[in-house]
Amino acid sequence: MARVVGIDLGTTNSCVAIIEDGQPVVIPNTGGYKTTPSVFAVTEDGKRLVGHLAKRQAITNPRNTVHAAKRLIGRDFDSPEVQGAQQNVPYELVAGPNNDTRVQVAGRVYTVPEISAIVLREMKRVVEEYLGETVQQAVITVPAYFNDAQRQTTRDSGKIAGLDVLRIINEPTAAALSHGYGRDESEIVAVFDLGGGTFDISILQMGNGVIEVRSTAGDTYLGGEDFDNLMVAFLLDTFEEKEGISLREDAMARQRLRDAAEKAKCDLSQVNSTEINLPFIAVDAEGQALHLSVLLQRDQLEEIVGPLVERTKGICAQALADAQIEASEIDHVLLVGGQTRMPLVQAAVQEFFNKVPHKGVNPDEVVAIGASIQAAMLGEDKAGPLLVDVTPLSLGIATYGGKCARMIERNTTVPTSAREIFTTTRDGQSTVKIRVLQGESDIAAENDLLGEFALTGIRDAPAGEPEVEVTFDIDTNGIVSVSARDVASGEKQSIQVNPRGTLTPEELEKLSSEFADSEEVAVRG
Ligand code: ADP
Ligand code: MG
Repeated sequence: MARVVGIDLGTTNSCVAIIEDGQPVVIPNTGGYKTTPSVFAVTEDGKRLVGHLAKRQAITNPRNTVHAAKRLIGRDFDSPEVQGAQQNVPYELVAGPNNDTRVQVAGRVYTVPEISAIVLREMKRVVEEYLGETVQQAVITVPAYFNDAQRQTTRDSGKIAGLDVLRIINEPTAAALSHGYGRDESEIVAVFDLGGGTFDISILQMGNGVIEVRSTAGDTYLGGEDFDNLMVAFLLDTFEEKEGISLREDAMARQRLRDAAEKAKCDLSQVNSTEINLPFIAVDAEGQALHLSVLLQRDQLEEIVGPLVERTKGICAQALADAQIEASEIDHVLLVGGQTRMPLVQAAVQEFFNKVPHKGVNPDEVVAIGASIQAAMLGEDKAGPLLVDVTPLSLGIATYGGKCARMIERNTTVPTSAREIFTTTRDGQSTVKIRVLQGESDIAAENDLLGEFALTGIRDAPAGEPEVEVTFDIDTNGIVSVSARDVASGEKQSIQVNPRGTLTPEELEKLSSEFADSEEVAVRG
């Protein structure tokens, strides 16, 4: 029986796990680490690096080192998130033909799914080295709040990496699956997942062999990266005030600041004060070397990032309301993601749910373990809990006057489908245009446009007479597909929805076949 592995493709770190003799095993890379930085770099002499090696040289090679590419996945180049990211990342972002976001590294343009594929290939290699056999099939996790474009792009990444992605599962759901492994308590669990790039909160009902997601909410642009960005901004201001010199345009200085800021942030989870020392960060007008030295207190950090932590509370409130569950009914709150190690985050969670968060799961590994449990269920056809998940976002279509008519509400159990009959407004009209939207706004333009397509070949008839039935499906991966049927003839058209910000099928084909020819170096010994 072919082996299926579970991969947590994180913004900051990725992790791979398998089930061996009924036990989940997180596979260390050859450097001995159980997680691998989701970082890709090209060195000056053209060497491609991935993982720890790529991360370690980021300071001296910031422009050609790509971190947090998952923040760009499935996003339009001109979206506010991508434009905002460009202010904070040292590598250069460029627009692709489908308005997708691409990254320029050492003179070559990479699509975002290629960067993710490089990380996935490394995780594939880690597990292959451990097993001594090739691995072809995987379950990959995504933030629960990922939309269709982000999910499709993740699946594309797997394809480029040479993996058959059997299932995409939501990270908090995977965490709950891991939490419930080998036990069958009836309980209501909240999974609070704050990683490097994204925030998810899911409310799940567990027990009697079923894990049912009652609701999910999140922000796919809220995570440790944003904490770091605020700290970097603070350090830049502090330095400029003191020395009258701005380091904003100095990529290397900024990378050093970012690195030091993240370290300080992590230190302050343990201790109450820490010092940031960056010698020779700049030179003044007289050519004198300037050093940055800042003593940072935990409460200062808390003041700087407080608004980010506050934002998670409103999102938790929405998840509870959608699940129709009171905070007091939650039996356990699971903390997932490295950023939940911050005391302020833990305090916010504890205050919101009025409960001490559960400490029984490893926040770095639990998602990959959950993915491996699902993988084993798919691969070896093993019995396991029935997973019932939901779609995080409402699905609708654009109607006259720029409105959005909702067809599937958020937090509907998937798979699900909805049907709508479309007709013509003019005599003899042969084409009807349909715009598929994902999001919660009643205004079309405020939602994500998944795709627009034309129903063509409608028979010659007076206005309002032809009936075209359009079916929108959301599968267990949360991916949307659309098909149409001419009611009179019964003839069916399958429609390709190729969301903005994703690759075209031709390009995906091309990248997948080219990809095998390139290779990266990772930690070896
Ligand atoms: P992802 O799932 O997005 O890859 P992780 O769960 O690995 O992310 O979390 C990475 C984030 O957690 C980073 O922003 C990192 O700075 C932060 N982090 C890790 N350890 C700590 C700590 N001890 N205190 C505060 N933040 C931490
Ligand atoms: Mg994560």
